[in-house]
Amino acid sequence: MSSQTKPRILFRRQEIAAAVKKLAAEISRDYQGKSPLLLGILKGSFVFMADLIRLLDFPVEVEFVRLSSYGRGTESSGKIKVVQGLRSQVRSRDVLVVEDIVDTGLTVAFLLDYLQKKKPASLKLCVLTDKPSRRQVPVTIDYLGFTVPDKFLVGYGLDCDEKFRNLPDICVLD
Ligand code: 5GP
Repeated sequence: MSSQTKPRILFRRQEIAAAVKKLAAEISRDYQGKSPLLLGILKGSFVFMADLIRLLDFPVEVEFVRLSSYGRGTESSGKIKVVQGLRSQVRSRDVLVVEDIVDTGLTVAFLLDYLQKKKPASLKLCVLTDKPSRRQVPVTIDYLGFTVPDKFLVGYGLDCDEKFRNLPDICVLD
């Protein structure tokens, strides 16, 4: 697989918009009267985060954390670390982690464990795409957009060697 391959559409922008709207409705219902911290995992979640927060009609704070998992290729190294740390207080906050894709689960499992130690009031996970067939560690997803097959996805923030993040549809690189 290479970034020379032509991406094939899996979910069109209209389907993505409908899924994000549904997630925003669920989140709005559950966080009424609260002021959660939405924590995106860079870089992939930035497009999803931007669309999601504009559909939330209550006060939110937005923060991003950068973790290392995949290098510049497509295979996970299995080693996760925080590259760019948290600047916001997590203690006693309602924290909602926002992620583009869960694959082996190692990345979100690491982050949720890291955050749990900081004693948030609540900690939940919102994921746009889930690839359960590749899971190595159990992950509970509270808000999910799409379950996806074991294919390499690009677009809507997802990259291959830093390319294709700007595609408005979620595509497969065959
Ligand atoms: P995990 O730790 O769950 O194996 O991987 C999560 C991270 O791997 C995601 O944040 C994403 O950066 C990357 N990843 C996993 N599957 C894909 C995929 O199909 N496409 C892209 N572009 N990145 C992926």
